[in-house]
Amino acid sequence: MEKIKVKNPIVELDGDEMARVIWAWIRESLILPYIDIDLKYFDYHILNRNATEDRVIAEAAAAIKEYRVGAKCAAISPDQARVKEYGLKKAWKSPNTATRNLIGGTLFRQPIICRNVPRLVPGWVKPIVVARHAFADLFDAAEISLPAGGKVYLRYVPHEGGDPVEAEVCDIAGGGAAAGIYNTEESVRGFAFSCLNFGLERGFPVYLGTKNTTLKQYDGLFKETFQEVYETQFRKLFEGKGIRYEHRLVDELAAFAIRSAGGFVWACKNYDGDIISDLVAAGFGSLGLMASILLTPDGKTVLTEAAHGTITRHFRDHQAGRETSTNPIASIFAWTRAIYYRGLFDATPAVQRFALTLEKACIDTVEAGYLTKDLATLTGGTAWLTTRQFLVRIKESLDRNLAAQG
Ligand code: NAP
Ligand code: MG
Repeated sequence: MEKIKVKNPIVELDGDEMARVIWAWIRESLILPYIDIDLKYFDYHILNRNATEDRVIAEAAAAIKEYRVGAKCAAISPDQARVKEYGLKKAWKSPNTATRNLIGGTLFRQPIICRNVPRLVPGWVKPIVVARHAFADLFDAAEISLPAGGKVYLRYVPHEGGDPVEAEVCDIAGGGAAAGIYNTEESVRGFAFSCLNFGLERGFPVYLGTKNTTLKQYDGLFKETFQEVYETQFRKLFEGKGIRYEHRLVDELAAFAIRSAGGFVWACKNYDGDIISDLVAAGFGSLGLMASILLTPDGKTVLTEAAHGTITRHFRDHQAGRETSTNPIASIFAWTRAIYYRGLFDATPAVQRFALTLEKACIDTVEAGYLTKDLATLTGGTAWLTTRQFLVRIKESLDRNLAAQG
């Protein structure tokens, strides 16, 4: 079969440990034999980050901005134990956060659904995509401890001059604590664009949850900005696809989500997103079935990855020469989602179709009863394949699906 030609490059960020081992197996057996692609390779191996003093991260991010599509393998965020293990110059910053910060945009976590993998919430037959606004909010709060009774104020001093604005937060008799949080219109607007672009592309409705009844200004900024962006830029496009955007009170949205069949984007403020993304991930079951996509507000730059880490425990077995049963699906989806967006940006449907076919091959393989240990455990089974046996099954399914397409 002739390879499918991919017009423009994908930036490949290699990683660490078991994730790196699987990443290479996927590249060599499921990607390069089928598509003719220029991969711009950057090595995020912990020793290369150490040797380049993290310059590789800046270079990779610049390449992603240039080519607009990146696929990232999981990589170690070093702590003191890693500094010792690898003899590092220091505990370099998290490569994930560092890369995301250089590119900007919103992180979407999307579960991959297989009919025979039970979910803690059985009703969730379609993915709930959690979009977390990763800016400010409680994570950039100013806080003070209040040792005894007193008053606390919020005070705004405009750069351009003009009168300061003050609000009394509290007047308390005894000690306590106080915190101040903020957000910016620019960041919220970018978040709205990212979420609405993502929903539009996938054909998913988008719901924003806030408590604007209580925080009329702060949560109101989110509600009003989303509404304005939707009305002026997206409503017609959404209606054309038979989907919509809606603001909901966050508690009502939580209750709706648990009763729903899934199939929507849940736009979360930063703190809500911290909780909701872990809650939804747990509800769907397996880390090996959770994909992650960073999308910029204009919808024109993406970085894909698996939500799991480098799977150190499995790597120790691999190093000892033992076969592991590690689930490669989220890493395969990091590749396929990148290829899918490459095809979208290049207007090459054959490239997009290949990505979707490989995704289908993964799901078909699981639904045919071939499982890695994590999935076998979830389904109550005791038989599982090694990572390599599982990858062979996926390849067979891919070949069958491609042959059926002619
Ligand atoms: P992890 O790599 O996600 O693995 C934690 C456990 O989850 C594994 O031991 C395994 O459980 C299970 N698991 C995760 N992915 C799996 C898969 N694909 N197939 C089967 N089981 C899977 O988290 P971690 O051990 O806390 O972190 C290891 C390293 O990854 C750390 O150095 C951390 O900095 C890094 N990390 C990187 C990223 C990223 O690059 N985005 C994200 C998170 C963590 P069992 O042992 O029970 O089989
Ligand atoms: Mg969390």
